Amino acid sequence: MCTTCGCGSDAVTFDGDHAHSHDGHNAHSHDGHDHSHGPLHANGTGHSHDHGHASIGEHGAHHHHHDTPADQTRTISLEQDVLAKNQLLAERNRGWFAGREVFAVNLMSSPGSGKTSILERTIRDLAGDVPISVLEGDQATSADADRIRAAGAAVVQINTGTGCHLDAHMVTHGVERLNLPRGSALMIENVGNLVCPALFDLGEGARVVVVSVTEGDDKPLKYPHMFRTGEMLLINKIDLLPYVRFDVARCIDHARRINPDIEVLTLSAETGEGMAAWYDWLRAHLPSSAIRERSSQRDAAVL
Ligand code: MG
Repeated sequence: MCTTCGCGSDAVTFDGDHAHSHDGHNAHSHDGHDHSHGPLHANGTGHSHDHGHASIGEHGAHHHHHDTPADQTRTISLEQDVLAKNQLLAERNRGWFAGREVFAVNLMSSPGSGKTSILERTIRDLAGDVPISVLEGDQATSADADRIRAAGAAVVQINTGTGCHLDAHMVTHGVERLNLPRGSALMIENVGNLVCPALFDLGEGARVVVVSVTEGDDKPLKYPHMFRTGEMLLINKIDLLPYVRFDVARCIDHARRINPDIEVLTLSAETGEGMAAWYDWLRAHLPSSAIRERSSQRDAAVL
C-alpha cells in the first residue's frame, strides 16, 4: 500500500527487449524480505524483496490498528520509513547513473499530456546524436513501450498494477534489463499522475513535468508538490492553443510562484515547434565527457 494515497503495488511486472528470464520477473513478488543489491546485478530472477510498500503490509499484519493516538503516530513514522527506504535506493541508482555517465530524466505529468509523444519525437529527431533508452511506467499494457520501440529506442515497460507511481526499486530492476550506453540519456516515463510520483525519488538527474494546454493553467497551484520538485516544465500541445482556453503566461506565473527556479519550454510534439530548445536542454545535461567523446569521434570521422 502507498501510505500517501492508499494505492497498492503488489503486482509489479517488467517487460522489455532484454527480457531474459521473463517468468521470473513477471509476477515479481514484493513480500517484504529485505535484500540488498546494486543496479544491474546479474541474477534478478524470481527473488523477493522489500521495496518499501510491502513493509506496510507486513507491518499491518503484525499490528492490528486501533484508533489510538499511538497508532496514528506509528502510521506517520511508517510513511517516513517508506520514503526513507526509497531514498536510499534512489541514492544508489543515482550513484550508478553517475558512474555510467547516464543522464536520467524522471518525466511526470497527468495522463494524456503527451509524455510518450514527446519521447517518440525526441528519439526520432536525436537518432544518431543522443543515445536514448526508456523505462515506461503504466498501471497496465505495453502500449507505450511498443510505441517507443517503434520509434527506435530500447525500452522496458514497468506495469505497476494498482500502483500510482514508479519507485526507486522498480527503476533499479528496470535498468537491469537495459544495456545503457555510457554517456546516454535514460528517460523514465512515470505513471500518469500529478500526485504520488512527486514523492518518490528515483535517482534521476532531473525532473521534468509536462502540462498540456488541454489541461487547466491552474495545475501548478492545485498540485504544488509536483511543480516544486521539477527542474523543467514542458507546456505541450501548443498547436492547440487557438482552440482551448489556456493562458500560457498564467500557467508559467503559477508554476514560478510554486518554484521560482523552474525552467519552462513551450512546445508541440505534434508539429515539432519548440522541440529544438528541449533537445538543447537535454544535450546540455549529458555528462561532458560523453559529449567530448562523441565530438572527438565526429572529428576523427571528418579527418
Ligand atoms: Mg505514456
